[in-house]
Amino acid sequence: MKQDNCIFCKIIAGEIPSHTLYEDEQFKVILDVNPATKGHALILPKEHFANLYELPEETAADAMRLAKRMMKKMTEKLDCDGFNIVQNNGEVAGQTVFHFHMHLIPRYKNDGEILKYIAGEPDQEELARIKKMLTE
Ligand code: 5GP
Ligand code: ZN
Repeated sequence: MKQDNCIFCKIIAGEIPSHTLYEDEQFKVILDVNPATKGHALILPKEHFANLYELPEETAADAMRLAKRMMKKMTEKLDCDGFNIVQNNGEVAGQTVFHFHMHLIPRYKNDGEILKYIAGEPDQEELARIKKMLTE
């Protein structure tokens, strides 16, 4: 259940304080301590799973249902103009806390390019090769 030295397990156990927006048997939703935008929050399953690879499918489905509910409420209350749901898996993908979490990031007009990636320009052959690899 709880993993030693996991900051999110400590937050869930109440050993480290956080601003809790929502809590039920399965999840806790807290404000991110270093928010990318006003209202940036995190959905944490109470049970420790390192990432989405480890998370049971049922919990993943419940987390997405909760994300949708939180997004609706936060959009109404914060009057934001859009919303990003972000979920990082592995250090190379930007994960820094290895307890599964989903970022709820309200977006506002002119809040900057906080989640920009560079669009690739592959040729059709490469796309076809990748499709073959992933569907064989
Ligand atoms: P990741 O980069 O792993 O997807 O996201 C980890 C997030 O956890 C970061 O946005 C970071 O600001 C947040 N975070 C790290 N430590 C704490 C903490 O002690 N309390 C809270 N509320 N957020 C934290
Ligand atoms: Zn944990």
